[in-house]
Amino acid sequence: MTDTIAAISSPRGTGGVSVIRLSGSDAAEITRRVFKSDTTMQNRVMTLGTLFDESGVIDECLAVSFAAPKSYTGEDTTEFFCHGGAFVTETALAAIIKAGARLAEAGEFTKRALLSGKLTLTEAEAVADIINADSRPALEVGLSGRGGALVKRVRSLAERVTAVAAAVSAVLDYPDETDDIDISAETAVIAEILAETNQLERDFNIVRQIRDGLNVVILGKPNAGKSTLLNLIAGFERAIVTDTPGTTRDAVSHVISLFGKKVCLWDTAGIRDTADDIEASGVQIARRTADDAALIVAVFDGSRPLDDDDREIMKLCCGKTSLCLCNKSDLPRLADMETLRREFADIAEVSFKNDDYDTVTAFLRPFIVGDTPVFEGGVIANERQFAAVVHASEHLSAALSASESGAFDACGVSLESTLNALLELGGEQVSDKIICEVFSRFCVGK
Ligand code: GDP
Repeated sequence: MTDTIAAISSPRGTGGVSVIRLSGSDAAEITRRVFKSDTTMQNRVMTLGTLFDESGVIDECLAVSFAAPKSYTGEDTTEFFCHGGAFVTETALAAIIKAGARLAEAGEFTKRALLSGKLTLTEAEAVADIINADSRPALEVGLSGRGGALVKRVRSLAERVTAVAAAVSAVLDYPDETDDIDISAETAVIAEILAETNQLERDFNIVRQIRDGLNVVILGKPNAGKSTLLNLIAGFERAIVTDTPGTTRDAVSHVISLFGKKVCLWDTAGIRDTADDIEASGVQIARRTADDAALIVAVFDGSRPLDDDDREIMKLCCGKTSLCLCNKSDLPRLADMETLRREFADIAEVSFKNDDYDTVTAFLRPFIVGDTPVFEGGVIANERQFAAVVHASEHLSAALSASESGAFDACGVSLESTLNALLELGGEQVSDKIICEVFSRFCVGK
């Protein structure tokens, strides 16, 4: 028997329809106290009626009940579909609270779904990922988690760890005979499982990139046209464009959607040797931003000969994914194209002033779009899961070393710790603190 909770589940504000959700053992009784209809309410059937309080009718609305356990929370639930005004919805919720419900906390409906076994923790996390998705790939990450792919993958890893642990513990049962025992097969399995947890860690980088955006840094000496490029791609005046060199002194970022991907585009201080303290620290920031970049767009002013500042930019691009845009093709060409071609595999001669968005971005397209990530096999979706898989990998590494050196005792202990980390990863063994943290990411009403 749980108390019965209620909340507005649609966004705050004015809209066509708003949804109030009511869940708990008294849901049916509370529904009877606030909702009247000419027809008898049937399970999972929309019913038209009136919602009222002691002052009279609040709204003509639809209501649908879901009897336990076939509901989102696994409890008796009613959902009311009211007219989408803020006042009417708040008044309807107040009537439901007065009739015996308590206001739900953030994520409490989903938390109840977890407690009643309707969802695992990773599936509940995926619900938040679906709600917060701001691009198609981000949605794919959420959908993959909601389908339970990660849980299945982690369970299969845990089963393999358990089997190896059992084999190692059998060895420990006969301590006098360990010299004759060969556990090379088990050692190989530990190495395979470790390869898979390492792969899960690497795949999380893709998820991070999807969530936070692909970091693309525009580098160039002052006046090469970096701010003009940022404004062209962003589609509006995001950065100041002037003839005065050294005006961009900070790294200015702009999050945009480019070819369906979230991209974090950085305009940086022009790279040059300068005596100005503020500009010099801007150049430092530009170098650091370039270090963290997934892609560097190096901009050169084609109307000026290449100089030491340009050569410094070529150095910063060395060993990084980068492309070269040689700007100002509308002016006579003075930059040495041969040098640029030697340094960059991908190069385009453009004019940010005269070329349009399509021409410039077409060149960026293959670098931004990249390969389509595949999430069907399950993917780590958040920092909590990532921390758990890192722990699993650490314990597996220790188990592998112990197994290779015949330290069966230590190997058994590390496999046990691996299993705990995997159970935590799959959300099957987590503390209340972690559960609270997960649900604090949710909004009220979900
Ligand atoms: P930044 O210092 O690298 O950010 O350079 P800006 O974007 O502020 O541009 C410096 C100057 O070059 C401005 O006066 C721009 O209008 C000019 N500029 C930018 N792109 C072009 C171009 O394709 N052709 C010409 N002629 N001028 C350009």
